[in-house]
Amino acid sequence: MNTTTAMTAMTTDASVIPAPQEKYLAYVMKEIAKNTQAKTEINLQIKKIDGLLVNVFLVLGVNGDRTALTFAHLKILSATIFEIIDEDLESKLLFLRTFNVEEHTGLEFQIANILQDCKSALVKIKFDKKLGKYCSVETQTPSFCEAFEIGEETGVLSVFQDCCVCYEKTITLTACNHSLCIPCWSATKCTEDEDGEENRHCPICREIII
Ligand SMILES: [Zn+2]
Ligand SMILES: [Zn+2]
Repeated sequence: MNTTTAMTAMTTDASVIPAPQEKYLAYVMKEIAKNTQAKTEINLQIKKIDGLLVNVFLVLGVNGDRTALTFAHLKILSATIFEIIDEDLESKLLFLRTFNVEEHTGLEFQIANILQDCKSALVKIKFDKKLGKYCSVETQTPSFCEAFEIGEETGVLSVFQDCCVCYEKTITLTACNHSLCIPCWSATKCTEDEDGEENRHCPICREIII
């Protein structure tokens, strides 16, 4: 069994990242060793968070002599949508967290700490339909969002519209300008077009959405 398959079988949800994470640590160390670049992007093999299919990456900067980390980010992308977009990918992130790397502690120790930070971050996040992103539970629905809604009554246009499927507030729009929250977007089934291609279609106007 290769490493990827083993990791997939081991972790299907963020809450089950094993502690003390020995297997994860070995996996991450192996992925770093495989790569000779200054930046390594490691798929953490977490498949689902808060009901959404995701790809979770640990992005690590490694110094020239491969003995220490220079930076560490955790990022989450949807596994079902946005994956064909290359340009402007950063704005399609569903979650991004940057961790402090403690210097002079050694690569393996730094990574063990980062994995612990990842776990702490991942178990606390919930998907916020309104913002179309994952938010930490304590910061979910930040007050500035509420300000936009109050703004609606005071004549300032709200940035939130009702999702055309579940009618909950959301900021996310399709390219055809229809409001569709990420969970409903992900749940939209692909159907076959006349030319035989499988595509997702906007629930309102049937335009192709990614
Ligand atoms: Zn929805
Ligand atoms: Zn549409």
